[in-house]
Order: sequence, then structure tokens, then C-alpha cells
Amino acid sequence: MERENHTDIQKLFETVVDGDYCIGCGACAAVKESPIQMKLDGYGKFTATIAPSASQQLLDSSVQAVCPFSNHSLNEDQLGQELFSHNCQRHDRIGYHLSTYAGFVSEDGFRDRGSSGGMGTWIVSELMQQGLVDGVIHVHQRQPDADDSRLFHYQLSTTLEQVRSGAKSRYYPIELSGVMQLVRDRPGRYAIVGIPCFIKAVRLLMRQEPLLAERIVFCVGLVCGHLKSTQFAAMFAWQCGITPDNLRAIDFRKKLPGLNANQYGVEIVGVQDGQVVTHVRPVPELYGRDWGLGFFKYKACDYCDDVVAETADVVVGDAWLPQYVQDSQGTNVLVVRHPVIQDLVELGMAADRLQLDRIDADEVAKSQSSGFAHRREGLAYRLYLVDRQKQWRPLKRVQASAKHLSRNLQKRHVLRVEMATESHLAFKAAIATGTFSVFVEKMDAIVQRYRVVSQGSRWKRLAGKVKGKVQQLVSQFRKETA
Ligand SMILES: Cc1cc2nc3c(=O)[nH]c(=O)nc-3n(C[C@H](O)[C@H](O)[C@H](O)COP(=O)(O)OP(=O)(O)OC[C@H]3O[C@@H](n4cnc5c(N)ncnc54)[C@H](O)[C@@H]3O)c2cc1C
Ligand code: SF4
Ligand code: SF4
Repeated sequence: MERENHTDIQKLFETVVDGDYCIGCGACAAVKESPIQMKLDGYGKFTATIAPSASQQLLDSSVQAVCPFSNHSLNEDQLGQELFSHNCQRHDRIGYHLSTYAGFVSEDGFRDRGSSGGMGTWIVSELMQQGLVDGVIHVHQRQPDADDSRLFHYQLSTTLEQVRSGAKSRYYPIELSGVMQLVRDRPGRYAIVGIPCFIKAVRLLMRQEPLLAERIVFCVGLVCGHLKSTQFAAMFAWQCGITPDNLRAIDFRKKLPGLNANQYGVEIVGVQDGQVVTHVRPVPELYGRDWGLGFFKYKACDYCDDVVAETADVVVGDAWLPQYVQDSQGTNVLVVRHPVIQDLVELGMAADRLQLDRIDADEVAKSQSSGFAHRREGLAYRLYLVDRQKQWRPLKRVQASAKHLSRNLQKRHVLRVEMATESHLAFKAAIATGTFSVFVEKMDAIVQRYRVVSQGSRWKRLAGKVKGKVQQLVSQFRKETA
């Protein structure tokens, strides 16, 4: 369908979608009678498209208000204030919070089955067990078939077994439109689990549609570094000898006893020489595992400023802190914003069902220091670059700026964007030639430049520290000898 008039939908497409700022959440497709459909693009990323049969009348649907990347929707500060300012304190990075913890679940194998300390699944199980919700909307594995190759999708769990079987992190594209329709069709009270921009989209949908607000009673957030395309899973599988079209299942976070929590493994199931086989490989052995390089990242993630799901009632992440990272079983950080969830957590601690330390909001922020550096200082510079090109971009809570970064760090951020962009193209080229090394060769050309620049930044930081220390010693010496 041609996009002729300046309807709300047309504006969404001219800005967010055409600018490649769409994170593929599916909120615009979830609006009642929306003509938008979610489709995986040629690079394995969900993106909004207009259904070919859409009528002009439907094209008038109001969609910008529910899009987390539109400039016509509320931002995380505005939503957070509306939801939590009456009883929570505010931290400049963590947002509103009632209480903050680090630890894990000590009962019933939640930690074994989870990606980290198992708190993500424990919280939603507990909400169900206490009769506070009738179901949990979260991400499950699915069997890929000839019509639909996806390995994961959002699904409603209505039993505790189903809830528990949905544990683990899925670094994979998912979208919300199907499950939002399910919430409309099926009366009940639900909890939903999601990465920050998805929870923001759900909050925006709930503001627009009272039925959704009535039925979605808890939003559980996951801390987020960035989202990956389907090619991330395929890249790991290919290195294990399973070609992308033969991949059947993946566990991105297989715990490996004796290693640090961040040195987890990946478990791949696929067809090799006509047999279904399973491979487990430590992620540090695999090419492209470094999240800092941003392989297969959606462009939207480089224009996001919410690391800790600031609009969620509770958020869980990994405690990437020196005192916790050595435990291969995994440890969560936890930010609680809803009093009912705080009560569940405190009761769980008192009954020794949860092993949690009280930590402060600064420590939570420290556990995600790279994520914050990329989405505060790094984001300010990326916004500056887009503004210099006089292109449309989403409004952010961070101001565009270049002055705060050294030339070296600026180069580093430019190379990160280049690596993410090139990874999508290079992997497609590798698939077209049937040769994984094509991907490695193309990526290495940028990765090597990035490593050199990063090394430069590191030396400069080290030299700065040494200089500071020397100055400190000299002034101390002068004071002592004066
Ligand atoms: C794309 C992505 C990026 C992440 N980046 C970071 C990061 O930078 N730093 C950090 O500390 N943590 C990050 N996390 C969170 C981390 O991987 C763990 O999910 C989190 O620590 C919870 O672990 P757990 O053991 O408590 O949860 P589990 O008990 O394993 O439960 C996880 C819950 O999340 C649901 N879920 C899994 N994947 C998705 C998804 N894509 N969308 C919605 N729901 C999902 C599951 O269905 C389950 O309900 C990320 C997660 C995702 C999905
Ligand atoms: S980010 Fe979400 S709401 Fe916005 S255009 Fe993409 S799918 Fe639609
Ligand atoms: S980095 Fe931001 S935009 Fe990207 S998936 Fe995470 S929350 Fe969404």
C-alpha cells in the first residue's frame, strides 16, 4: 500500500521505521485494528511493515503514541514519574527505586535453570503462586518449521511448570503484537517480562487502552545491553559445524562450573550430516562473542538511554561486580519499584528462600558500567553526529555533545557503529557464499582498527592515572619537606 497522506502511521514510518530506529517491539502492530504487521527483514531483525491489504481508514490509527522510539510518546522519566514518584527515590542512572539487591534464589533449582541467579523466574512464579496473577507473558523456545524459522517467541504461561520452562535469556528478536491480542481475548491478570524498550512500549499501550491496563498488572524488566538479530544465534551455530538453516535450538547461557559467571557456554542443537546433534562450547572460544563489539545489534539500541527498564515494577540483571562474578552459578542485581514485589522479596529473604545482599543504587549502576558509558557519554556523541548530518532522530534524555569525549574515544564510538552495521551485511555475504570465514575476514578489518583505538584509549587512561599519582606524591613530598 502506498503511503500517500501524512497520517500518524505515515509519520511513524517516515521517522522511526525509515530511519532504521525500529526495535521491532510490535507495539504499533498491537494497536487495535492496526494495519501494521511485524516481519523479519533480510538481516533477521523484526521491523514494522504495512499490510498490503490495509485500507486508508485503518491507516489513520494512532500509533506514534505507543512507539518507544517516536517523538510523540512519553519518555522513561515521564512514565517513571507517573508510576513510581509517589513512593520511590530517584537515582540519575537507575531511575526510581524502592530497594536494590544482589544475590540469587536458593530454593527449587531456579538458579540452576536461570541465566543468572534465577530471580527473573522466581518473581513471576511467586506472583502466580500467591494468586496475584493468572498468567505470565514471557519468551519461550519454539520449534522452527518450513514456514517460520524463529527459535523463540512471546507466549502466555498459565501453569507454574510453564513459567519455569520459560527461564533463560533469549538474545533473539521477539515481538509483542500476538500476545497483546491474547490479553484482549482472554480475561485475566497478567505479568509481562521484557527488555526496557518493550516494557516502555507495553506501558504506552496500557495508557492508550484501558483493557490492557486492567489486565497487565505487573511489568518485570530485564537489564539490557542491546538486542541481537537472528544472525547472532546462527553465528555461534555455524562455528559448531551447524549451518544457519540447520539450527533447531540454542541456549545462550549454559553455566560452566568452575568458570566465572561471565564465561558461560552456549548449547546448540541442530542437524549435522542428517543427525540431530547437540554441541556445548564455552563462549570465550567463539568468534563474535564480545558484546562490546556489538555484532548484530539493532541500530535502535545505539539510540537508547534506558539500561535498567526504568518503567518496570522490578528489574533483574547480572551482578557484573568483582565480588559476585567469580561464582559460575550466576548472581542477579535487582531493582524493586513496586511495594507488592518488595514484600515478596523481603518475605523470601526472611524464609531463606532468597539469598540477597542489600546493595545501593550506585552499586547497581556500577554493575552495568559499560552499558551506561555506551548509553550516556557514547549516546551523546552519536546524537551529535546525527544532528550534524541534519537527519531525523528520536529525542533522548541525553543531550547531543562531542566535547566530553577525547578524539580517541570518539573514534571508538564511530567504529562501534560501523561494526554493528557491517556485521549484518558481512553475515549475509557469508551466507550467500556458504563460507563463514567471509564473515570473519570482513569483520576483522574493522575489529582490528577498533582494538588499536581501544588500546590507545587504555594507554591514555593509564598515563593519566600515573601522571595524577606522580603529582600527588610530589605534592605530598613537598608538604612533608616544607
Ligand atoms: C537482549 C538481552 C540483553 C541483556 N543484556 C543484559 C546486560 O547488558 N546486563 C545484564 O546485567 N543483564 C542483561 N540481560 C539480562 C540477563 O541476561 C538475564 O536475563 C537476567 O539477569 C535475568 O536472569 P535470571 O536468571 O534472573 O532470569 P531467568 O530465571 O533466566 O528468567 C529470565 C526471564 O526472562 C524472560 N526472557 C528471556 N529473554 C527475553 C527477552 N528477549 N524478552 C523478554 N523476556 C525474556 C524469560 O522468558 C524468563 O521469564 C539481558 C537480557 C536480554 C534478553
Ligand atoms: S519500535 Fe515498535 S512501535 Fe516503533 S515502529 Fe518499531 S515496532 Fe512499531
Ligand atoms: S538496548 Fe535499548 S533499544 Fe536496544 S533492546 Fe535494549 S532496551 Fe531496547
